[in-house]
Amino acid sequence: MIKFYINSNEFNNDLYNLARAFYPFTNVEIENVLNINEASDQDRNRPYNEIMIIASLEEEAIKLKAYKGSDEEYTFNESISSSYKRFYRNALKRLVYMSLSKIAKVSLSWGTLTGVRPTKIVLDMLENGESKESIASFMKDQYLCSDEKIDLSLQIAERELALLQEIDYKNGYSLYIGIPFCPNTCLYCSFASYSIEKFENQVELYLEALMKEISFASTYITDTKLTTIYIGGGTPTSLSENQLERLLAHIDKEIDFSNIKEYTVEAGRPDSITLEKLEILKKYKVSRISINPQSMSQKTLDIIGRKHTVDQVRQAFNLAREAGHDNINMDIIIGLPGENIDDVSYTLDEINKLNPESLTVHALAVKRAARLNEEIDKYKDLRPDDIGQMRRLTGEYTNSSGYNPYYLYRQKNVSDNIENIGYARPGRECLYNILMMEDKHNILALGAGAMSKFVYYDKPKVRRVENVKSLKDYIERIDEMIYRKIKFKEEFL
Ligand code: SF4
Repeated sequence: MIKFYINSNEFNNDLYNLARAFYPFTNVEIENVLNINEASDQDRNRPYNEIMIIASLEEEAIKLKAYKGSDEEYTFNESISSSYKRFYRNALKRLVYMSLSKIAKVSLSWGTLTGVRPTKIVLDMLENGESKESIASFMKDQYLCSDEKIDLSLQIAERELALLQEIDYKNGYSLYIGIPFCPNTCLYCSFASYSIEKFENQVELYLEALMKEISFASTYITDTKLTTIYIGGGTPTSLSENQLERLLAHIDKEIDFSNIKEYTVEAGRPDSITLEKLEILKKYKVSRISINPQSMSQKTLDIIGRKHTVDQVRQAFNLAREAGHDNINMDIIIGLPGENIDDVSYTLDEINKLNPESLTVHALAVKRAARLNEEIDKYKDLRPDDIGQMRRLTGEYTNSSGYNPYYLYRQKNVSDNIENIGYARPGRECLYNILMMEDKHNILALGAGAMSKFVYYDKPKVRRVENVKSLKDYIERIDEMIYRKIKFKEEFL
């Protein structure tokens, strides 16, 4: 267990997340105490393997003591030059990082950064005209990031900035449309996803509600122009040909396409793809699709319950080319149960033969809502132990095959704290991913569980409006979802 005593309750989340970054499976307790001097009395009978950290926030300094059992004791102090909360937060995290790094005898490549978007800091600084050198020193001094991650963040942020400068993103917004149906549920899935077969009788009702929300959305934002559309899920191509065509025709009829730079549809599961569906996507001006194998090893696909074959991936990809799709992304996951470096190498070789325009490399996250989490004991012996090597291999492969990293995000509960990276050939980057991930403009999100985000440029702030997650609730309460957005507009827009 890791126990914190601290005389403030403002940084509990920061402490928790940083402690879990060092010790992902350890219990973390945080006690906010008024008199910090009393805290040290409580550790007398501490078991040998427990860690205790006592942090005292004072007017112009932070004083910290860290103990592991009765053998190890560390003291760190740092002066604080400003009373702004973020100065205290960053200094406190540095001191906690230094003590845990000593105790665990490891360093974390992202240093004290535990958030999902480390590149956002770098991108904001680049946009403010800071030099690469000053950003690099800032990332090192403030957050103790490794040189490798600083280089990667700079590379990505520079690419993002160049792409953003080509579009008038501040005068634009993006539309997200969610289809929460899939052929079946993957082992690691934590999204709201419903089996298209089992929920067949709900699909028409869902589409009816969704189309109502789309019609409403077409007049919702009037002061900026629609820049990108992203239909995700779930698996949008789980819909039948007829349903898919009706949905896309409705979008085409209701939405103003005159300023659209990109229109993506996730055709994620190869077992949901037909030539006719791919032709429908093309007919309605979809410019980018995603066909996601996750792995090209059949034994892995069977373990993760994808219920499609490796051959189906190849066939779906070739059909997409036949239908004229010239911007195809593929997603893979590293760290899947039972995989080793040879499996990842094989997957990359097979993807190389298909030659997609972009490749997104995810690291397996064990999410609370996933079946993998519930059945974790069954898979614990299949956990790969060379994930760092897998990440290096995907980095080398993308580099030598002409793909550049262009967006990055991190997730919690990921093996080896590895990030997800989108790679693309020049000019084939997904704008929506950048705009959404870096909070660069408003995202109007429709469908069950969809979360709209509204960005305020004057003060860095994002406000969110959420739709209900459950399919049944969304269908029954569609008018309320629309009303939520109307209310939000009256209050904040
Ligand atoms: S395809 Fe994606 S959304 Fe569908 S079950 Fe698998 S992980 Fe979940």
